[in-house]
Amino acid sequence: MTASNLACPKCERAMDPVTLGTVVIDHCAGCSGIWFDEGELQAGLSQGGKRELRRLSATAEAPGEHDLKAARCPRCRTAVDLIRAPSPTEPDLHVDFCPECGGVWYDGGEVELLLSDSLGGRIGKFFKGLVGG
Ligand SMILES: [Zn+2]
Ligand SMILES: [Zn+2]
Repeated sequence: MTASNLACPKCERAMDPVTLGTVVIDHCAGCSGIWFDEGELQAGLSQGGKRELRRLSATAEAPGEHDLKAARCPRCRTAVDLIRAPSPTEPDLHVDFCPECGGVWYDGGEVELLLSDSLGGRIGKFFKGLVGG
């Protein structure tokens, strides 16, 4: 059984599934962006995925290269645009999240932001708060 790969919301390449402990995240080899379905970020981090995430997110491009591009949710695809919210720690950069399925997208280099602060466990709440839930 093969699940069809999600397409990168920024550069539209097929993303590669990457296993982090018990979760499978989606990584774009083209722009180093990472898609987390709801809860996968916290789960991956709690299972020691920090190092791997840092490696996956590493990019030669300056962070922000793809930051301003509008994107569609790779999971809901059809009509749902991702909402761009300022990062809790770096307001100059944005995190894209889907109000429909709760997934979160980090552009290449942006995961570093998340890992370098202590918000990992609280980020879900942060986004839920933003959409008024
Ligand atoms: Zn991409
Ligand atoms: Zn979605």
